[in-house]
Amino acid sequence: MTAQTAESRDLAAVIGLEVHVQLETETKIFCGCSTTAEEDEAPNTRTCPVCLGLPGALPVLNEGAVEAAVKVGKALGSEIPEQTRFHRKNYYYPDLPKNFQITQYDAPVCDGGELDFSVAGEHRTVRIERAHLEEDPGSLTHAGGSIDTADYTLVDYNRAGTPLMEIVTAPDFRGANEARAFLAKLTEVLEYLGVFDATRDGSLRVDANLSIVDADDVADDGSIATQVLESANRTEVKNISSHKGAEKALAYEETRQKNAIRRGREVEQETRHWDESRGITVSMRSKEAEKDYRYFREADLPPLRVSGWKEEIDIPELPDARRERFRTEYGLDAESASKLTSTKQVADFYERIAEAFDPGLAATWVADNLLGELHYRDLDITDVDGRLDEFTRLIELVDSEEITTKNAEEIVLRRMLDEGLTPDEIVEDEGLGKTDDDAVAAAVEEAIEENPEAVSDYHDGEGGALNFLVGQVMQKTRGSADPATVNEQLTARLSESN
Ligand SMILES: [Zn+2]
Repeated sequence: MTAQTAESRDLAAVIGLEVHVQLETETKIFCGCSTTAEEDEAPNTRTCPVCLGLPGALPVLNEGAVEAAVKVGKALGSEIPEQTRFHRKNYYYPDLPKNFQITQYDAPVCDGGELDFSVAGEHRTVRIERAHLEEDPGSLTHAGGSIDTADYTLVDYNRAGTPLMEIVTAPDFRGANEARAFLAKLTEVLEYLGVFDATRDGSLRVDANLSIVDADDVADDGSIATQVLESANRTEVKNISSHKGAEKALAYEETRQKNAIRRGREVEQETRHWDESRGITVSMRSKEAEKDYRYFREADLPPLRVSGWKEEIDIPELPDARRERFRTEYGLDAESASKLTSTKQVADFYERIAEAFDPGLAATWVADNLLGELHYRDLDITDVDGRLDEFTRLIELVDSEEITTKNAEEIVLRRMLDEGLTPDEIVEDEGLGKTDDDAVAAAVEEAIEENPEAVSDYHDGEGGALNFLVGQVMQKTRGSADPATVNEQLTARLSESN
């Protein structure tokens, strides 16, 4: 009876995220080492006494990292205190040469905030508790695969000291899909701000907290009493490195915990590791409490004052605002506006095209034709950024009716992307300039001569015959004739021959 009751309990997941993003700066946060990995660079070469934690080496704060953090705070609507400071978080682990990480504790650079996103057509807002600056540890490679089966582990400090921002949300997510949608939106905002490069390996890492509560404890507005949250045992899932990975790891963890509760077992409060290749989370160690880190002030860095300076830091128009403006200013529908603002680069590209043409025509060309063909080739807009003039020319050829839309889409655009030729080169090479009336007349003549059966079918009133003949003429003119003209000329000529 008890088991039945447990099985039928309606349960709800409570999820909070700690998102670590690498900020795009030229140099590391406390030293002058480059943050950009050279191709095939050897491990531990992009380092210096500071990021290797050698005795006596002193950190100097990178202004660019603070500026990027202030931008993130402004975009999330955080309060940015006048003064902020750094702490040492002490723990012993090979990825940390100093045995402590310089981070922020009681005075983060960004306090509070929120982020809107939508999931399955529904609008959601998640509260941001804080966002702070810290240094990235080195990277570990577990020889032979996963952390719990490796024979040994290699350590590389090239990454150590890359500026990181840790963005901590309130436990406002109720499902794995929400976490994924939030990460997609956050990434989009960070890219718009120009502080984040999603293509950089390891630029996003997520730790997720998940616990299970009774569905009855979730209020209609989605809130849950603090007491309920605190009494639920939660796990922290580490090693998540993608939006999709977050969704998979959290869906797995939600099912695992719900199953345990339904079988009458208690969920252990622990840290678990997401094993991407096996698609499961595995227990790592019992979770440290905050006191285990022995946080204390970083004496080598003075308090950081951003007052008087933070006001001067501007942020660009953000994705939601830009989408809205595209709808009102250019009259685009929601879907086109959304596609055309998917990245800042796409939006910039579109706006430059829209300056020269009707915004609707520009939208069709960029959102449907160009993005579709790029996607098919696994390219993106940044791969063709330098060819804006050529795309402008292509649309101009269509707009002025020098080539047909069909040929522009199916031949010119594709060859531009595949062979790197200019539109004029392709038009010349393919002989695509619209065929003049004489050439159409000659093709009509030929088609009639070559297809006597279709001609007599036409005279017998068979509807399909005319379409067949139009097709023949289009083929002979390589698609460059105007179908309406062909139709007109054919009908006229056929009525003569009757
Ligand atoms: Zn260094």
